[in-house]
Amino acid sequence: MLQFDRIALPPETEALRGEVRGFLAESGAHLARPNSDFTTGHDPAFSRKLGARGWIGMTWPKRYGGGERSFFERYVVTEELLAAGAPVSAHWIADRQSGALLLRFGTEAQRERYIPGITRGETYFSIGMSEPNSGSDLASVRTSARPVDGGWVVNGTKLWSTDAHRNHFMIALVRTEPPSDNRHAGLSQIIVDLKNDGVRIRPIRNIAGGEDFNEVVFEDTFVPADRVVGAPGNGWKQVTSELAYERSGPERFLSAFRVFVELVRAAGAQPTPAQAALIGRLASHIMTLRRMSISVAGMLEEGKSPEVEAALVKELGNNFEKQLPELARLVFADRLPAPAHERFRQAFTDTLLLSPSFTIRGGTREILRGVIARGLGLR
Ligand SMILES: Cc1cc2nc3c(=O)[nH]c(=O)nc-3n(C[C@H](O)[C@H](O)[C@H](O)COP(=O)(O)OP(=O)(O)OC[C@H]3O[C@@H](n4cnc5c(N)ncnc54)[C@H](O)[C@@H]3O)c2cc1C
Repeated sequence: MLQFDRIALPPETEALRGEVRGFLAESGAHLARPNSDFTTGHDPAFSRKLGARGWIGMTWPKRYGGGERSFFERYVVTEELLAAGAPVSAHWIADRQSGALLLRFGTEAQRERYIPGITRGETYFSIGMSEPNSGSDLASVRTSARPVDGGWVVNGTKLWSTDAHRNHFMIALVRTEPPSDNRHAGLSQIIVDLKNDGVRIRPIRNIAGGEDFNEVVFEDTFVPADRVVGAPGNGWKQVTSELAYERSGPERFLSAFRVFVELVRAAGAQPTPAQAALIGRLASHIMTLRRMSISVAGMLEEGKSPEVEAALVKELGNNFEKQLPELARLVFADRLPAPAHERFRQAFTDTLLLSPSFTIRGGTREILRGVIARGLGLR
């Protein structure tokens, strides 16, 4: 059954919030074109500054460079960064899920090798799940890894791999045994060195003109044995365990937040009744989604795996963030004074063009609704 405990952020997180806001106020150079979408803005210098502050790998053990802080503290930092439209994409995946995956399933040598660089904001990871003809139905992946002396030979193609052309590593889901009646058996996760393993990476242009995701082709690519994460064959269990981290965070409802900020600013102290009604409606949605998302952070803090609750937050949150620019356009677009209009227009166009992806990346709406229905015992 679904459960969202009422959780308030602990009071000590407020001091941290103030620290992050202070830091952002001094980071103007990195915030020239603020965008709350977590995949926009690959800025290694900014990521390193966050690392130096201890704001990457915040919940991880200190012996690997982590902060041993709570999921609530992490939550506050991530929501402030997104709300400000800070460029977080370089370290985002590594911080959100690859590092956590390595901590949970990786070998000690892998943890020592990769995690300190992640926490310093220097080492970036991509997700290698989707393939041509394998997205929602992830168990159908065909990229294969054949055992050879000292490692594996990988063949196949990964698709939509965000920032693979910029990042250092990818954790790829591959088939290490031929398909069998058990579709979830024989899958493994391996770490691919995107700079040195000889993979072919082709950026794919999106509708906004950006080149953020890629096709990654493996042609007899050799990967050493010590780069398998966990036990060979355990890939399905591992990859699904990543999803609670991937699906529940504030990035799943804040992608359009900068449009909201510009909209409130443009409406000023005396909004029209239609503007006031829209601002109230959007604000109440954000507050509700935020409480649900914080509740999931609370469950992660307690060591639970709230996959179904996370799917619900993502499904509702993606729907909201996709609608926000369109609602804003209907109520505001033609009624703004020139300077406010320009700031609004920039946030609006950047976000509107990216918004089709909000309900696809990280699992489509239909798939999430299936997860929720199963969690409710309806299928
Ligand atoms: C901006 C962006 C970034 C991405 N980044 C990454 C990344 O870094 N790494 C990565 O591995 N992937 C990434 N993806 C891929 C993403 O995870 C997939 O696109 C997504 O899971 C859908 O898979 P698909 O594109 O193959 O579509 P399909 O699975 O072919 O789905 C097509 C349509 O059919 C529907 N559908 C499919 N199966 C069912 C079903 N059983 N019941 C009902 N409806 C169904 C879907 O909801 C969808 O509407 C990214 C995608 C985007 C848009």
